[in-house]
Amino acid sequence: MKTEHYRILEKSKITDFLDKLNTISKIAAPVYKGFNNYAFQTIKSAEEVSLKYIPTVIPPKKYFLPTKDSLLEFTVGNELKVEPTVEYENLILFGVHTCDIAGIRCLNMVLSDKPKDTAYLIRKKHITIIGLECNDYCDEFASCAFVGAHLPTTGYDLMFTELEDYFIVHIHSTKGSDIIEKTGLFKPAQTIHMEELKVLREKKSAIFNNEIPTERRYLPDLFDRSFNASIWKELEQKCLSCGNCTAVCPTCYCFDIKENVDLSLQAGERYRVWFSCQLDPFAKVAGGIDFRRERSARQRHRFYRKFRYHIDRYGMVFCTGCGRCSRTCMAGIKLKEVLTSLIRESEAKIWRKWL
Ligand code: SF4
Ligand code: SF4
Repeated sequence: MKTEHYRILEKSKITDFLDKLNTISKIAAPVYKGFNNYAFQTIKSAEEVSLKYIPTVIPPKKYFLPTKDSLLEFTVGNELKVEPTVEYENLILFGVHTCDIAGIRCLNMVLSDKPKDTAYLIRKKHITIIGLECNDYCDEFASCAFVGAHLPTTGYDLMFTELEDYFIVHIHSTKGSDIIEKTGLFKPAQTIHMEELKVLREKKSAIFNNEIPTERRYLPDLFDRSFNASIWKELEQKCLSCGNCTAVCPTCYCFDIKENVDLSLQAGERYRVWFSCQLDPFAKVAGGIDFRRERSARQRHRFYRKFRYHIDRYGMVFCTGCGRCSRTCMAGIKLKEVLTSLIRESEAKIWRKWL
């Protein structure tokens, strides 16, 4: 950790910082919405921002992949005219937890792979990310240490870490260093600050213990043995197929394409909307065949998309441990319990082989 990449902001100046930031660009930040719910939304003043919050109901992916995203407009006159459309704006996302930054990194990986998602990439270029590190678990649903998303690594422009009476801020990009310059409230970090940061990280490694009784590196083997695990049938009885778990997931990116055609039939718009592998029509193909008709197959697919398939393709687990799916599920399906059940069943099978 090099001191030159760090700055100090006294806690008493965080309000001034946010108000100055608001003069530079539009800001979205976590705001309390009541009943222990938070949402990222654009703010007018620093007072609206919650510095302590559990993951927002919808993750910040909504700024990169809007729920409804216009793709093109067309007119039919003497000839067909098609205009691609991309809606974007300069935005600073303030207070993004490390798990949500990990989620954005997953989206980056998929949506910059071929065929590139131009609209996503244009939006990403115009969004600045200011992270806020968690020094403790947000609640019992989090499993961010299991997937390695509890520490800042990369994917942000600035990272704020709260210490006793100041924030230590890591500068990770030129966009981040421009903000430091323009707001003019930061002091250079000294060796003592770096030592305090080191102590905090040591404390964190004691707090953030592995939340699931296995290690990340064993996930491919576990899932290779679990295709016919009994938990999938149990989930068949519980899951309501509402799709909430995928809507709130920071790494889910599936969408459906729709069109609105003007009543004159002379003009229209093509757009995409979020879609979910947990909904009945998702896997329906021509001929009315649905290759994941049972809810057990859909739930299994969700877990394999998070913990198996993307390890082969991108070398990454596509779960950030944010806990949103468990927090939101009306049927009480908990990700940590499902993984633990897979581990226990798999261990029991191995033991039976040896006995
Ligand atoms: S939120 Fe729960 S009930 Fe709804 S689809 Fe997901 S697992 Fe099923
Ligand atoms: S699967 Fe659940 S815990 Fe994992 S990233 Fe998605 S919402 Fe968060």
